[in-house]
Amino acid sequence: MFKIGIGSDVHRLVEGRPLMIGGVQIESEKGSLGHSDADVLLHAIADAILGALCEGDLGVHFPDNDPKWRDADSLQLLSRVVWLAHERGKQIGNVDANVMLENPKLRPHIYAMREKIAEVLSVDVSCVSVKAKTGEGLGAVGEGNAIEAQAIVLLTSN
Ligand SMILES: [Zn+2]
Repeated sequence: MFKIGIGSDVHRLVEGRPLMIGGVQIESEKGSLGHSDADVLLHAIADAILGALCEGDLGVHFPDNDPKWRDADSLQLLSRVVWLAHERGKQIGNVDANVMLENPKLRPHIYAMREKIAEVLSVDVSCVSVKAKTGEGLGAVGEGNAIEAQAIVLLTSN
């Protein structure tokens, strides 16, 4: 049986924070603000998996007022969500995701992100798609004040 889930996330961009996207640190003047390492792409993917499982969202599982998750490595958060899916007898089928960021350009980093994500999801890199978009100068993303991600995931049963 197939289950599908959708996830999205947004983080404010500020100076003096690292920019982590898909488990890869990107050189940038601004980084994403958040309680954990604020990896917008991994959060959207984790939310999509939780959605497919009908398990609420990341905030339910990793409350941002819990000091345990302060500066947490989002690859570890995602790996716990994947563990939950496996516990329920589900495997990741494939993931498709969008990252919206004005700059820097993400294309040179996309393959490294796909590899990191595929490893955590226990799937082939060909099952993980990441697309980079800009805000065309419009809105919080376009003005360089925010980064957004959207993800959709298909879960399959054993
Ligand atoms: Zn987030």
